[in-house]
Amino acid sequence: MSKPALRSDPEKLLRQIISRFVAQEITPLARDMDESGKIPKELMRKIAQMRLFGMRYPVKGGGCGGNSTLYCIMSEELARGLLSLAAKVSKQCLMGTEHLYRFGSKEMHEKYFAPAMRGEKIGSFCLTEPEAGGDLGAVATTATKDGDEWVISGMKTWITNAPIADFFTVLCQTDRSKGVRGLNFFFVPRDTPGVRISPRFETLGTRTTDIAEVAFNDCRIPGEYILGEVGKGLKSLLSILADIRSMTAALALGLAKAAYETAFQYAKERQAFGKTINKYQLIQSKIANMATDIWAAELMLYETTRKIDAGLPAGKESMMVKYFATETACRCCDEATRIMGAYAYSMEYPAQRYFRDARFLLYGGGTHEVLQQNIARELKF
Ligand SMILES: Cc1cc2nc3c(=O)[nH]c(=O)nc-3n(C[C@H](O)[C@H](O)[C@H](O)COP(=O)(O)OP(=O)(O)OC[C@H]3O[C@@H](n4cnc5c(N)ncnc54)[C@H](O)[C@@H]3O)c2cc1C
Repeated sequence: MSKPALRSDPEKLLRQIISRFVAQEITPLARDMDESGKIPKELMRKIAQMRLFGMRYPVKGGGCGGNSTLYCIMSEELARGLLSLAAKVSKQCLMGTEHLYRFGSKEMHEKYFAPAMRGEKIGSFCLTEPEAGGDLGAVATTATKDGDEWVISGMKTWITNAPIADFFTVLCQTDRSKGVRGLNFFFVPRDTPGVRISPRFETLGTRTTDIAEVAFNDCRIPGEYILGEVGKGLKSLLSILADIRSMTAALALGLAKAAYETAFQYAKERQAFGKTINKYQLIQSKIANMATDIWAAELMLYETTRKIDAGLPAGKESMMVKYFATETACRCCDEATRIMGAYAYSMEYPAQRYFRDARFLLYGGGTHEVLQQNIARELKF
């Protein structure tokens, strides 16, 4: 495998620290966690102690002071151990807490953000609805002003962490006549009367990911729980979209590397027709293609995060890398199952988990059909 495209000592150091932690604490438990659908509390406590939930927030805000590049290195390395755990940590560090960090009052910071950085409270990001997936213009959950309060009504679905969340960042419509310009985010604590969480969804992969529907039945929240200025919800979502897409690409890259390394090792050991299968050209072709795609995805990812860190526009690049890295992960996980033959089909080996988990990456941050359309638009095609 090529040397990762890193340029600074903090980047190398962070990669080493997380990689060691993954090898010692996550990989040995990955199968059990996947089968039980549970992450041990002790493991989450260690992750919190490493302050990974605050990787991309300033030190004085309770975070680690990292940037987008460091955050993606963290996500990538964690994903080499267990994608669902990596996604849980990465989402808490971005979508779960970003609007609270930016727009929450001092009291909200003390009561929710600081504990979230310590891993004591969990946040959840609610965009998707039964009738509004990629098309956010169709969001039907409403927020209506009533005196000093907002009243939230509607249904969100496919919400990661909903079964265990302490608070929700909820995209609502405040003025339907304005379409997407009427969208705003609101902060809803779980114990608000009217919040109902469905039973946990059963899913194909990332089986430690807790997903459920959340119903908001006339939930009354204080006026200050609007996150950002009225009418600026879309703008604040767009401002973190490049980070969301890069993070998804980082998860994809970590998973692709895990699948590649498993298949690489297996091919050097497995004998067929008198020699190890790595001696066959068709297997060599698969490994060469996997390594090439992984290298390309890595270069694209860290080029994109460096643009984000420099405050440069990275919208097109982040769409391209989310699309390419995720397709790379799907291809690598598929090829790993072919290289490993029947053993990839056994629950004893991780190849089947990589194959199932890869599908998780396809939807959030934009489906690939929509991303391709948007990339073409960016190219003024
Ligand atoms: C594991 C998992 C975790 C998730 N976690 C969250 C979460 O925490 N919070 C949250 O809000 N949501 C979450 N989601 C939902 C996710 O964001 C949506 O799945 C995503 O936005 C796509 O919506 P959809 O699945 O309804 O597909 P749709 O938007 O209905 O699309 C269905 C199909 O139509 C295609 N399509 C749609 N529009 C176009 C178009 N214009 N041109 C061409 N093709 C098009 C799509 O590409 C796709 O193939 C999660 C989903 C999964 C699977």
